[in-house]
Amino acid sequence: MTVQHSRGSYEIFFCQKSDIISHLPNESPIITDTNISQHFPDLLKDRNVLELAPGEDQKTLSRFAECVEWLASIRASRSTNLIALGGGVIGDLVGYAASSYMRGISFVQVPTTLLAQVDSSVGGKVGVDLPQGKNLVGAFHPPSKVVVSTDALATLDERQFVNGMAEVWKYGFIRDPELVEELSEVRLNPQHPQLEAIVRRCIRHKRDVVEADEHEKKGIRATLNFGHTIGHAIEQVTGYTTYLHGEAISIGMIAEAHLGESIGMTASGTAEKLKHALVHQGLPASLNSPLDSQTLIQTMKVDKKAMDGNLAFSLLTSIGECKLVQNVAEGEVLKALAQI
Ligand code: NAD
Repeated sequence: MTVQHSRGSYEIFFCQKSDIISHLPNESPIITDTNISQHFPDLLKDRNVLELAPGEDQKTLSRFAECVEWLASIRASRSTNLIALGGGVIGDLVGYAASSYMRGISFVQVPTTLLAQVDSSVGGKVGVDLPQGKNLVGAFHPPSKVVVSTDALATLDERQFVNGMAEVWKYGFIRDPELVEELSEVRLNPQHPQLEAIVRRCIRHKRDVVEADEHEKKGIRATLNFGHTIGHAIEQVTGYTTYLHGEAISIGMIAEAHLGESIGMTASGTAEKLKHALVHQGLPASLNSPLDSQTLIQTMKVDKKAMDGNLAFSLLTSIGECKLVQNVAEGEVLKALAQI
């Protein structure tokens, strides 16, 4: 599959885990995390490897500094094609290091989580979190290629696989009602024969959206953020340790479906349908313990979609369609937060 962007294009290759190596540039350095490295020993052999600690709390400016200083220490040059081997945290962090080291070097995305395969490895958004908000520092820096192997997901623990399913469901909710039907019939797991087909379908959705609005200027790419305005606030307020990204987005999608219904944008009954599907998938529909609504709202105002402090949301009109809505009233958001 090819992705076109303003500076060219890149290919997404689908292959067996054992064939990933044949798609990687010889001798390129790899940055990965300590959970992942043990599962890909053949990829790491005879290369410079930087292994970072895993987790969202590592997606920071300090780890970014560690990556670029390491690149300098191994004398990486403008011709280096850095490899990001890992989930969305590694992809975002390493991609950001690649975007700025020597004012930009190439990098290859080898996504090893379901979430990274269907979402974060495609589209060129890279960056890190700040204490003030998620993904507040970053760049648009498309990879030189993406190598996807769904059998590499076999070593993911169940919670992480289900976490990625939140983004899979999201594509159904915002663009693909048939996918929602299919997902309701199959309980997808890493061994499921339809897994690769569904991953390809999600990537095609992501490709189509980012090609239509690469730099998120036309209100098209921002629709991918359904569930994310509230989800990101939940992640941030809980210090990125209580909920995985997809779990926070699951709760966020349910809250934002209620919000859409409340302001007359979303067909009535949609929130209940989403809740049923996500809970059946093993995703959370509500918070483990209550969070202060005002703190969540203040956090949402720092979200990149918020314009001059006004709250903005990607909201469903019905299952399979969505629209970016600006200037949503705080009172409506408070009502939606009461549902989770
Ligand atoms: P993650 O990168 O933290 O990976 C999850 C966990 O799984 C980690 O502990 C990791 O070490 C482990 N792991 C990864 N691959 C494994 C494998 N094959 N076997 C065993 N363990 C493995 O989390 P994630 O869910 O992949 O990514 C979340 C991040 O992605 C967030 O920071 C989010 O903001 C970002 N994101 C970015 C975009 C984008 O467009 N750039 C889109 C969506 C999400």
